[in-house]
Amino acid sequence: MKKVAILGSTGSIGTQTLDVIRKNADKLQVVSLVAFSREEKLLEQVKEFNPSYYGLISKSGEQCLIEAVQDADVAVVATIGITALKCVIYCLENGIDVALANKETLVCGGELVMYKVGKAKLYTIDSEHCSISQCIASRDGGKVNKILLTASGGPFWNCDVNSLCAVTPAEALAHPNWSMGSKITVDSATMFNKTLEVLEAHWLFGLPLDKIQIVVHRQSIVHSMVSFTDGSVMAQMAMPDMRLPIQIALLGNGSQQIIAPIDFTKLVNLTFQPCDVDKFPCANLSYEVFDKYPLAPTIMNSANDVCVEFFLKGKLAFDKYYSTITNVVEHFASQLCNVSVTVDNIINWDKQAQTFTKNLLNGVV
Ligand code: NDP
Ligand code: MG
Repeated sequence: MKKVAILGSTGSIGTQTLDVIRKNADKLQVVSLVAFSREEKLLEQVKEFNPSYYGLISKSGEQCLIEAVQDADVAVVATIGITALKCVIYCLENGIDVALANKETLVCGGELVMYKVGKAKLYTIDSEHCSISQCIASRDGGKVNKILLTASGGPFWNCDVNSLCAVTPAEALAHPNWSMGSKITVDSATMFNKTLEVLEAHWLFGLPLDKIQIVVHRQSIVHSMVSFTDGSVMAQMAMPDMRLPIQIALLGNGSQQIIAPIDFTKLVNLTFQPCDVDKFPCANLSYEVFDKYPLAPTIMNSANDVCVEFFLKGKLAFDKYYSTITNVVEHFASQLCNVSVTVDNIINWDKQAQTFTKNLLNGVV
């Protein structure tokens, strides 16, 4: 029995993880559940899975994440933001494997996290990165030329660029292929999610950013591809359903069929096209800010968090993300040019950048 702690159990990834555990009850056991504030939903889960520990971050503080992983073999990290950064590092230092959905942890603290991998393993629960891992493993010994990171393009891919200023939160929350939490769904609409995934791939697979290319694939059937130096390209295909990457992270390949098979009698078109960065400039942000200063990815992420919050409240136009984020990254450039990436610096400057972005959007600075 593998003992699983689920951090962020009430969210989209958290509940799908519980479904995977339900279907693999002979192999996986829930030992702890942590949510942020939705107590009722957490208690329903506690009733069904009977974990030895459960907690709410809003009540008990972040310490409950550390308490939750004490008896676990693996921690599924499906919280949002950088709340779990310290806990991820704690797990890796203490021999507890991590199944990481929360990409923000790698975007902000990738060098700290990857340095700790060894005693414990880090598995990714992001469909693209799971697929990249499989493509690389399938060609054991082959030299990677490029990662081709697929992107659905989100709900506005075919919209006229001039109409983007008027799109509504409801439209942004209607993702064509995936059902996910609201933050990542909005990030998919701006394609900021893809820029986070570029950095996530950089840290997970150790490739420079110019070897990671975004390819728009509207159908979300190919979950990413890897090209090798001999010219071959490996791709992984599956229906868009996060339970597959979750099951692979928890049990490896070769487990039971957990998602619907692809029906090739119905599927006619698989299309691939370059990313339109004029229409979706947020997709390009990581390439633009990564080398500016060590904490630039953290500041980029903080600014975006606030943009999402303001957009969902109807206080920021959809086409103002890019300029807002680049302004915030620039604002901190001189004071952060020599500030290194440490857990404390990430947490401290994340707060400062969020405050600054709020002030900027409220017209206070
Ligand atoms: P959801 O919004 O559906 O769920 C978020 C979870 O985190 C909930 O359990 C929520 O608790 C908790 N939470 C809320 N606020 C905070 C906070 N401030 N600090 C810590 N935890 C908090 O998100 P998703 O499940 O969609 O995404 C979780 C992570 O996984 C994100 O980092 C996302 O980028 C990543 N991811 C998600 C994918 C998906 O398909 N959904 C795909 C790939 C990656 P409560 O319910 O009590 O509010
Ligand atoms: Mg993804």
